[in-house]
Amino acid sequence: MTATRLLVTGGAGFIGSHYVRTLLGPDGPPDTAVTVLDKLTHGGNPANLDDVRHVPGFSFVHGDICDVDVVDALVAAHDQVVHFAAESPVDRSRPADGFIRTNVLGTQTLLDAALRHGLHTFVHTSSVEVYGSIRAGSWPETDPLRPNSPYAASKAASDLLALAYHRTHGLDVRVTRCSNNYGHHQFPDQVIPLIITHVLKGSPVPLYDSGLKVRDWIHIDDHVRGIELVRTGGRPGEVYNIGADNELSHRELAGLLLSLCGADRGMVRFVEDQQSSGDRRYSVDITKVQAELAFVPRKDLIAGLAETVDWYRTHRSWWEPLLPRTCRGHNDYERLPS
Ligand code: NAD
Repeated sequence: MTATRLLVTGGAGFIGSHYVRTLLGPDGPPDTAVTVLDKLTHGGNPANLDDVRHVPGFSFVHGDICDVDVVDALVAAHDQVVHFAAESPVDRSRPADGFIRTNVLGTQTLLDAALRHGLHTFVHTSSVEVYGSIRAGSWPETDPLRPNSPYAASKAASDLLALAYHRTHGLDVRVTRCSNNYGHHQFPDQVIPLIITHVLKGSPVPLYDSGLKVRDWIHIDDHVRGIELVRTGGRPGEVYNIGADNELSHRELAGLLLSLCGADRGMVRFVEDQQSSGDRRYSVDITKVQAELAFVPRKDLIAGLAETVDWYRTHRSWWEPLLPRTCRGHNDYERLPS
């Protein structure tokens, strides 16, 4: 049996590397070869791939998804693309040129190569943020996209571009729109690792906008399983929301994490957010992925958060060297009034 050759863009990042580790792990699909294409920007970290570096069938290419020649040669040698690469932390989306280049032009470069080489399947990982913000209820996939940040707008552009390549050219494109992920190996300037690492350092914990934003938290195990279901069983040209129905305000989330860390709530410092899109609440309706692909989020939130706290507690050598690269500058918070 010939191996399925998968090109995973952004596979050195938080979610992409977990996807690759899962595919090449003991429960992954048989006969699968994986090439990671990653530029190793802000969130990319070669150490995230240490567990699979020597697995047969794995290879790594340090390169840019906007590089037409690199992308063309790689796509020609693969059957499917799972596309994670993006400039992603929301609060760095000013100025927007890096986001537009990678998220929009990079996606277009991949889609064009996919067309040229008759690629079998192209999975595009979009985000719940493309929908905007919702006061009540949840978005089905048919809702219009109303992104508010430049990051979300660049994700919406690439999401719609991918779908347009299906409608215009018949390319087998499948889009996932997932809610906020958490778990191990997440860059320490994202909400959950930011709170945990501040507590572990004994620094005041910054909480933005009074902690009132509400997000649905999904563990990366569940997201990655959802992506695999879409890759292997989804329909071409379709969008699948992925979420876990774990809605919490940042204030509630911080309370849980502080308690799991055995820390006092007095460590929290409320900080005004100068850089936020203001999106108050995200909530996706996951009826479609449940009905069509039998997706069920399995990870209990408290258990998942406790495992995540444990991981950061026992992997200081992974996150401490990253602190100087965090977008908000961890050190700024060491100067917060205590
Ligand atoms: P991440 O920043 O950890 O990973 C992104 C990866 O893309 C990094 O390894 C980076 O080096 C790489 N990259 C950036 N620009 C590149 C370029 N020009 N060429 C090649 N590689 C490049 O982000 P993540 O949280 O793992 O997100 C992965 C994808 O999932 C993104 O598309 C994001 O929009 C989407 N997503 C994330 C979440 C979330 O909660 N983190 C939720 C829904 C969707």
